[in-house]
Amino acid sequence: MTDTLDTPTLSAVPQARRVVTAIPGPKSVEIERRRQAVVSGGVASVLPVYIARSHGAIVEDVDGNRFIDLGAGIGVTTIGHTDDEVVQAATRQLGDVTHTLFTVTPYEAYVRVAELLAEKTPGDFAKKTVLVNSGAEAVENGVKIARKFTGRSGVAVLDHAYHGRTNLTMAMNYKAAPYGTGFGPFAGSVHRAPNSYPLRDGLTGAQAAARTIAHLEKTAGAADLACLVVEPVQGEGGFVVPAEGYLAALQEWCAANGIVFIADEIQSGMARTGAWFASEHFGLVPDLVLSAKGIAGGLPLAGVTGRAEIMDAAQPGGLGGTFGGNPVAAAAAVAVFERIERDGLLAEAARIEAVLRPALEALRAAHPVIAEVRGMGAMLAIELVDPESGEPRADVVGAVAKAAAQEGVIVLTAGSSGNVLRFLPSLAISDELLGEAVEVIERALTAAGV
Ligand SMILES: *Cc1c(COP(=O)(O)O)cnc(C)c1O
Repeated sequence: MTDTLDTPTLSAVPQARRVVTAIPGPKSVEIERRRQAVVSGGVASVLPVYIARSHGAIVEDVDGNRFIDLGAGIGVTTIGHTDDEVVQAATRQLGDVTHTLFTVTPYEAYVRVAELLAEKTPGDFAKKTVLVNSGAEAVENGVKIARKFTGRSGVAVLDHAYHGRTNLTMAMNYKAAPYGTGFGPFAGSVHRAPNSYPLRDGLTGAQAAARTIAHLEKTAGAADLACLVVEPVQGEGGFVVPAEGYLAALQEWCAANGIVFIADEIQSGMARTGAWFASEHFGLVPDLVLSAKGIAGGLPLAGVTGRAEIMDAAQPGGLGGTFGGNPVAAAAAVAVFERIERDGLLAEAARIEAVLRPALEALRAAHPVIAEVRGMGAMLAIELVDPESGEPRADVVGAVAKAAAQEGVIVLTAGSSGNVLRFLPSLAISDELLGEAVEVIERALTAAGV
């Protein structure tokens, strides 16, 4: 970065935890009261503290409390809240061109994002991209394109998957409540198969893949499937890392049967796991890669990137949308790519894992309710089950997340049974803040008597 702008938005929020009121504090309580009157009850918040400023790994609420943020807006502010270069790139773009609509009169930032995605997604072949607004929209477009390319309709997904809240993606989710309950009828031709879940199924990757494939061949038929959509590391499902060889076997089966293999990397992509895309850890070369969450430092942007011949199956005018690939979001994304590349941020995900994983393993040794520590890079989780009965302990997970918030640590839950605590810190978090957050969680576990 050579030139700088005088932006009032570059907020230097101290990188330290500070709790100065009850949580939520009085100002948050007041805004929450107004919210109850005017915001749909269908929009639920994990923690009703209203955020005024954020930077790096810390969010500060309207009452002046500062939280260590282990959620990063669900893995969105991956390189840190209000990253200076992202803020500057977006601010500059905002003043130059805010919107023209790429499908009316295009602009370069969109093309640059497509070049960067072609370069950083796995696979050494010609790739093309369409940019859209949200993860769910990327999933929708990936399926659309796969259907057009194959001339088939079937969509295969896995147990514990999460793909979004639009009509098609609701049908693709594993969990009905709360995402789908009462919102049907849902899109058809979606076929769900068992996944690989080493803690629960004890299967090898080859065994789990054989089970998935047999299920899909029986219930859907390979010849009718347009695509298989998988999250290399499942997000909402609880950071489930499949057994070795599982995903590669699925990809091989897809290739042999003309099924488009789509990696939903919306949560696992963009440096989160220590690689540009988690597919790399599994030796996968997906036909299409979906990105969103971390791609633009907090601005809404998502993309479908993949084999040129598949992406070009869509007819001109068949893809797009008013805001898709917005110039400000695209400029922010270019800055995110540059920061990751130039400042070696993939190594920061590895650093976080090197600090956090042993700390979580130490917690597990002291608290038998923790059945497993799993994940990759800055995408780690612990699953809590009763050590005797094996029953999921969502109650403990909920209590720990709540107690941590009271002490100034934001930690998210996950898992189809709600019994997983997931850690998605920004890559900007220091070792010290990570250690402090784990201490808070340890105290909460002890207080829960487990
Ligand atoms: C968040 C998420 C989505 C949906 O993205 P939105 O931007 O919320 O629509 C889809 N897939 C995965 C894996 C996700 O984590």
